[in-house]
Amino acid sequence: MKMRQFKCKQCGHEWDEKFGSGRPEKCPQCGSTGFFRTDSGPRNVGCRRASANKKANKSSDKDN
Ligand SMILES: [Zn+2]
Repeated sequence: MKMRQFKCKQCGHEWDEKFGSGRPEKCPQCGSTGFFRTDSGPRNVGCRRASANKKANKSSDKDN
């Protein structure tokens, strides 16, 4: 079962929510609505950037 992870900015509490249950209304710990997801991090961005660089190098080799 995939889980989404959230972290509260207010109290620092971290918790999981099941997919399909929707976005939680508030932090279960302190009731604050100031929280964010932590499971979809910058990892994807790094992958995309690396492959883009690879492609750019390949095409410039061809031109030479
Ligand atoms: Zn909280």
